[in-house]
Amino acid sequence: MFEEHGPPIEFTAAGDTPEEQTTNLKIVRPSPGFDPASELCAEAIIKDADVTVLDFSPQQVTVRFQIDGLWHAGTPMDREMGDYMLATLKQLAGVDYRERRERQTGNFASLYLKKKQKFKLVSQGIQTGERVALYLDYKRPPLDKPEDLGMRASMGKQLRAIVNDTNMGILMSTAVPGEGYTAVWRGMLEATDRLTRDFFVMEHVGKNEPEVINVYPVEYDSAKGENPMTPMKQLMLKEPDVLAFPDIASGKLLDQIVSHSVTHEMPIFTRIPGKHCLDGLLRLVALKPDVKKLTDRMTAVISMRLIRLLCEDCKIGFQPHPQMIHQLGLPQGRVAELFKPMVYQPGMVDENDVEIEPCSNCSGIGYRGRTGLFELLMFNDELRQALVSNPRLDQLSAVAKRHGHVSMQMEGVVMIAGGRTSVEELQRVLKS
Ligand SMILES: [Zn+2]
Repeated sequence: MFEEHGPPIEFTAAGDTPEEQTTNLKIVRPSPGFDPASELCAEAIIKDADVTVLDFSPQQVTVRFQIDGLWHAGTPMDREMGDYMLATLKQLAGVDYRERRERQTGNFASLYLKKKQKFKLVSQGIQTGERVALYLDYKRPPLDKPEDLGMRASMGKQLRAIVNDTNMGILMSTAVPGEGYTAVWRGMLEATDRLTRDFFVMEHVGKNEPEVINVYPVEYDSAKGENPMTPMKQLMLKEPDVLAFPDIASGKLLDQIVSHSVTHEMPIFTRIPGKHCLDGLLRLVALKPDVKKLTDRMTAVISMRLIRLLCEDCKIGFQPHPQMIHQLGLPQGRVAELFKPMVYQPGMVDENDVEIEPCSNCSGIGYRGRTGLFELLMFNDELRQALVSNPRLDQLSAVAKRHGHVSMQMEGVVMIAGGRTSVEELQRVLKS
């Protein structure tokens, strides 16, 4: 990327005092590894890579970038240059550059393209050599409201009506852990009127979930034989209006929560890992609670997956074949143009046979950034019955569809029709 000199990236090396940081930086600057280390860090920043992984094998060093949740290969380098580069990175991070087996972690900072960034380096010897991960830790804007996460305005309105109804029973969120599991939970709580009602969340001691303003944490400790219902007697003296249970460990506990919700007419928020609403529900039923009592008390399920957005600078419009429109379930003749990513390959040429450069906004990946793909499933009596008598995905899907439920797939098709993502990306997300 930067052929002759390293990129104009400035580093702040590890150190307890500014003087020590300056000294540490001075040590590495003349090293032959400094330019490649600068290039690697600059590339990670330009590509917006959450993690950069280097694998050192006897012959070479492979480079991978994790961007918007997917891995992309970088340019491999020979072992000698890789070793110099790693020694520089380790010295910047304040760890021992000669140590190649034990796990080490350290931090350094950078200033590049007017942005300050923090890097965390983790190195560890593995069977084939050594693996090094560079985490880029920068402050993303806080995503709080469901609409900030990508929820359509009309669904946001529907969700607010549910969560602010004092007659609400149980509302559950579901997502894949590591892919919006916390975000959708927070988004659901953020949609509530926490200023006029008293919300409490039952949290395991030491879990340190990011706080939601005006939702008060109440701790329990399983090491002391406690569960989320243990503090309830004390808590009820405070007259809570709404309770939130982020972790449901067993059907027995779920039964207690349901009973509490019924007895006290208490709205309850809970969550479980799952790929979509019905998947989350099936996992809840798999805990073997009293399904009849549970479903009688359920109001709705909300689910979210993360989907990549097409790069607005290079996405390619095309006229979809009528068969594709049909497969997507879109009305014929309404959508004149869909979009696909421009995926860069080295050596690509334009119509004049001139080699083209990768897009500077997305580094040639074709996507930039992610958003939430939401699904909101409302309960009805037929769904309740199906969950009790025949809790199978195909059966439940058929029931939901009959009642006009918009599946996650259909929500995704709306995004495709709007030119925000591609058919391939939706398929990838729903398949994984
Ligand atoms: Zn682009």
